[in-house]
Amino acid sequence: MRELLITIHDVAPALMPRVETIWRLCESRGVVPGLLVVPDWHGETAMESDPNFVDWLRARAAEGAEVFLHGERHDEVGSPRTFGDELRAFGKTNNEGEFLTLDYAAARGRIDRGVSRLRAIGLEPIGFVPPAWLAKPDTHRAARDAGLRVSEDDGAVYVHTPAKIISSPVIRWSGRGTVRAYGSVFFERWRWWFQRGEQVMRLALHPGDLAHPATAASIETALDAWLSVRAQTFYRALGI
Ligand SMILES: [Zn+2]
Repeated sequence: MRELLITIHDVAPALMPRVETIWRLCESRGVVPGLLVVPDWHGETAMESDPNFVDWLRARAAEGAEVFLHGERHDEVGSPRTFGDELRAFGKTNNEGEFLTLDYAAARGRIDRGVSRLRAIGLEPIGFVPPAWLAKPDTHRAARDAGLRVSEDDGAVYVHTPAKIISSPVIRWSGRGTVRAYGSVFFERWRWWFQRGEQVMRLALHPGDLAHPATAASIETALDAWLSVRAQTFYRALGI
């Protein structure tokens, strides 16, 4: 059967009302989305400092939500880009590619810290997704060596145990301005018409999708459309 992986990105206290709204959109359709947690969103609020947030996360994990580490702070503060990094990131993110520039040691350090912090609040992460899906291959090796089962970029999911690369288009939106919003609504429809036959599709929902009425409406119609032709599946079942 064809597969559909559904996640909510940017799960952090600062973005909480919107994350919860998206969770409810999924819940009302019988979907249990994966949650991509950022422990120190923009270096401002440690997740542990918000007991309501921690309780909310634990409750969702108890309902079967897969938990992912999604960077440490998400933005690129303190990690200057080289020209090559600029090229790789061109048009893909508004300086939210925390792992874009990191080598193995730096990536491993952030992943290890994040995994320990998630475990300390009672969560067992299944994988790692770099912010904006931007990272060097070193980051995926670091995720594997840190004991995580999966990581991904915008073209594929890397299953680490047992090793397997699964090609998978990702549907995502941008609510940052009208041009990007309508552009991303168009691309969702493009994928519907031209990539509907792909074995594994990913739907990546972001709190920022609710910032523009066009993307806010599109994530709901897309959920309904894709769920009408395939059922939600989970990362834990990939490659097994
Ligand atoms: Zn993100």
